[in-house]
Amino acid sequence: VPVTIVVAGGGFGGLYTARTLERILPKQSAQVKLVSDTNFLLYTPLLPGAAGASLELRHVVVPLRHELKSTELVLSKIVAAEPDRRVLRLRSPDGEESELEYDHLIVSLGSISRTLPVPGLLEHGIGLKTLGDAFALRNRITQMLEIAEGTDDDRAAQAALTFVVVGAGYAGVEGIAEMQDFASEIIDLYPRCRLRGTRWVLIEARDRLMPEISDHLADFTLRELQRRGIDVRTGTTLETVTDREVSLSDGQALPTRTVVWTAGVSPPRVTRALGLPIDNAGRIRVDSCLRVEGRDCEWAIGDCAAVPDPAGDGVQACPPTAQHAMRQGRLVARNVAAELGHKRVREFTYKTLGVFVDLGRKQAVAETLGVKWRGAPAWFLARTYHLAQLPGGSRRARLLLDWTVDLAFGRYAYEVSQLSGPPALGERDEDGAAIAKRAEMRSVSSTL
Ligand SMILES: Cc1cc2nc3c(=O)[nH]c(=O)nc-3n(C[C@H](O)[C@H](O)[C@H](O)COP(=O)(O)OP(=O)(O)OC[C@H]3O[C@@H](n4cnc5c(N)ncnc54)[C@H](O)[C@@H]3O)c2cc1C
Repeated sequence: VPVTIVVAGGGFGGLYTARTLERILPKQSAQVKLVSDTNFLLYTPLLPGAAGASLELRHVVVPLRHELKSTELVLSKIVAAEPDRRVLRLRSPDGEESELEYDHLIVSLGSISRTLPVPGLLEHGIGLKTLGDAFALRNRITQMLEIAEGTDDDRAAQAALTFVVVGAGYAGVEGIAEMQDFASEIIDLYPRCRLRGTRWVLIEARDRLMPEISDHLADFTLRELQRRGIDVRTGTTLETVTDREVSLSDGQALPTRTVVWTAGVSPPRVTRALGLPIDNAGRIRVDSCLRVEGRDCEWAIGDCAAVPDPAGDGVQACPPTAQHAMRQGRLVARNVAAELGHKRVREFTYKTLGVFVDLGRKQAVAETLGVKWRGAPAWFLARTYHLAQLPGGSRRARLLLDWTVDLAFGRYAYEVSQLSGPPALGERDEDGAAIAKRAEMRSVSSTL
């Protein structure tokens, strides 16, 4: 009887696990099922570009059905697990609950934005973690320019034209660089905004940008952001947020209507409902072979797992990056196959080979195999790397086309938030109630 291997999550870790299993397992020996709540992988390194409108939103996703060959894709939300019975509990998009049995389970459920108890943050902050976030930010920039252009109230205009990004890791630095670049490109279409100018503020609690890169490159990044007029405040935290203002730990209050929160990630809540051991940060505890501690048939990888970092002191977990998740995916597939064939499982030994931080405007910083790059060569290298890494030839072609069109013709200033859902049918009053419906009811009651 073929064994059932279930991969939970269709992101970097999950997709690379399933694809490796497809390749290495003897045909008919196992049934591989991948459960995900979306039918695409979000290629997050391109998300800042999508938020800054240099990329079409649909071109930063990889449709799973196009990438999987023999793996069965189960589109459902995982809500819990009972490892002792070897079952996952699922909820389908239609709300139907079911159970899925497995012989081996590989968990790769990623992470969500880690928020802190800052008053007003949950109500007014926007993340940069999902396709919806990138869509909202791209619209927000244009919407704020429209609002500022149409008002005589200087304070209101100032709040609309001030953008605050909290967290100077990858997402925060790339995000603010791309979004500011977008705003500066379209601002000529808004004569009053051009006179008033936009203000961009990057806030970081630590005393330097991007701990992932060397001091030298972090300094270059800081200088590049400052050269563009971005106000970078390290050693500063966000204290409160309202719909028109933020207050900071340095005592300053800034009028703003846009707060982007990119200060770290944490595992999604469901990882606590899987009946598996977790660490203080909520990540699933695994050994260096990626097997869940104290379990035989459960494995965990990617952002949601605390994989001992081969580059660290043995206690520290791997950083939450796609390059780690992909490689853990390939290794866990081999280890599960080895386990089924009664062979020896291997340890995760990957140490970061390089990092790329794309700053838009043909600028980037990169560190590859100890060699440091900056400026235009780093930017070219970063784009070439992502082009090579994005799965699928046709998607690479679309990406290349987007970048080329963007370089040749620039970006458009349109605000399309209505794409987030079709408007209700019929005319509405101020509160959104259906006018036609009420009129119809009045005419029915007068007939009666
Ligand atoms: C803006 C940004 C830029 C980044 N840039 C880089 C970069 O340049 N280089 C780099 O190496 N890393 C980068 N990262 C980090 C990288 O995205 C993550 O480390 C990587 O996605 C982790 O892979 P994963 O498989 O653990 O999770 P993910 O890729 O997030 O996949 C998790 C999957 O699980 C699914 N899922 C979650 N919960 C459930 C559930 N309950 N039921 C079913 N399915 C579920 C999700 O929909 C998702 O498909 C960036 C991240 C961000 C946000």
